[in-house]
Amino acid sequence: MIRALLTIDDIPSDNTCAIVDYLNEAGIQAIMFAEGEKAEKNPEPVVYAVQHGMIVGNHSYSHPHFSELSLSEGIREIDRCETALNQIYEMAGMERTCRPFRFPYGDKGKKNRDAFQSCLRERGFSKVNDTTIPYTWWRENGLDRDIDTLWTFDFTEYRIRPGSGYTMEDVWKRIRNPNPENGAALYMPESRHILLLHAHDETDELVPGYYRLLLDDLLNHGVQFVKPDFV
Ligand SMILES: [Zn+2]
Repeated sequence: MIRALLTIDDIPSDNTCAIVDYLNEAGIQAIMFAEGEKAEKNPEPVVYAVQHGMIVGNHSYSHPHFSELSLSEGIREIDRCETALNQIYEMAGMERTCRPFRFPYGDKGKKNRDAFQSCLRERGFSKVNDTTIPYTWWRENGLDRDIDTLWTFDFTEYRIRPGSGYTMEDVWKRIRNPNPENGAALYMPESRHILLLHAHDETDELVPGYYRLLLDDLLNHGVQFVKPDFV
């Protein structure tokens, strides 16, 4: 049995509500990571996600590379998104019981990496329960100790863009690749995953309902989606 936690980055988008509806039809609860600035301007899809069973986490305010920020600039990015998400949960009439965080691009801040981890810990961010993730590279890179939520498998569907030459065929190849250059093979028996997908309208324009195509494939392969769980 392959078990996976689904995470979806970069909400809100025009397709956020449709994704939430699909997830509910499929019985999948995901963590959706929101950008604070976009959520302030367009709160409705984020409120919809919260009210329809998804956990919304902090994906910074303006989606910068944290390695290009000073420590104080990075902390401001985290805190401003928190303020926006607190407002979203208040608008939704829902209590905020967990606070996962994901760095944009998985960029943990290089020279400030330890300081950002301390900041996340002090602020009470929630660490996803990754104790069942079996990969040695996960532990060797200290990911089992980090508070932020990284991933073990990236669909790379966001690379499908006009002129990029990257197509859905490349995404399917990646899904079926038993030896990917980074991350872990998706369909390895007994594997455990944190999956990374994005809520991007640009992808939907080129591959309508891409999230349904991809996640249906996982369901057809018997992947069991686990509910977000924190330690
Ligand atoms: Zn992102």
